[in-house]
Amino acid sequence: MDCSRIRFHHSLVLIALVVATALVPADRARAASAQSTGGATLAPLPKVTAPRLYVLDCGTLINNKPEDYDLKREEVRDTNMGVTCYLVVHPKGILLYDTGLNDRLVGRPLYENVLEGYGQIKFNTLRGQLADIGVVPASVDFLVLSHYHWDHLGNAGDFANSTWLVYKGDRERMFDKESRGSAWFEQYSALARSKTQLLSGDYDVFGDGSVVVLATPGHTEGHCSLLVRLKNTGPVVLSGDLYHYAEERELKRMPPEERTTGTVASREKIEELLKRTGAQLWIGHSMEFFRTVRKSPAWYD
Ligand SMILES: [Zn+2]
Repeated sequence: MDCSRIRFHHSLVLIALVVATALVPADRARAASAQSTGGATLAPLPKVTAPRLYVLDCGTLINNKPEDYDLKREEVRDTNMGVTCYLVVHPKGILLYDTGLNDRLVGRPLYENVLEGYGQIKFNTLRGQLADIGVVPASVDFLVLSHYHWDHLGNAGDFANSTWLVYKGDRERMFDKESRGSAWFEQYSALARSKTQLLSGDYDVFGDGSVVVLATPGHTEGHCSLLVRLKNTGPVVLSGDLYHYAEERELKRMPPEERTTGTVASREKIEELLKRTGAQLWIGHSMEFFRTVRKSPAWYD
């Protein structure tokens, strides 16, 4: 046999392997994560031609203090709060908005899971729900947290390799002395080394107007909402904690301490946008919304 032909053949195989590896980042991401999912087979990563929105169950907060939101008990239909995370799969990349309650709460008794007067319940991990749709942390290109409160950043550290889109005020607050001493600091501390893009004003993530981070300061200095324009569902605004209960919006109430922050102006901005675009407002903590919204692995497109 001609040895030079074998070498040539080997070289071709090698080149083909190198090219194939370079062309399939999704597969690479999947392989990289096989370890983190215990080697379980992942669903294929969704391939889309238009944005797709997945709603993830990131836990439930047991709460009966509607007065914190300037509401009386009898004015609120359900004082508990759903904790919602959202994944946007866009032809040009994947964005995660909020990371919810920490995955380590799953399977633990409620009495262990009380934080600042809120009981936390979690049945499904964020990581597992993402794996069910073929997404691993390494496939998430952009991380956006509506704000820095613990019920929104429980698993943020898992996404330290994503590009973090954040406002300066929240970024600074997350790494100040007080936050570094908090019980949940380690849940996001890895973001310190993330590729970080500091935002000012609204930000069109993919440059086509379909996914826009909306500056809605007030609840925190760097609080933001997300506008997602979907082909069939139409435009949707994910409002973070701009509202907690739908009744805040109906009865025009807000946490008393927010009356002097940007919340008033941010709510006006969003109401104007809803009117102008016909967008739906999705209040992530609303139990009514959380119960009825279609959840992952189903999606909205
Ligand atoms: Zn919240």
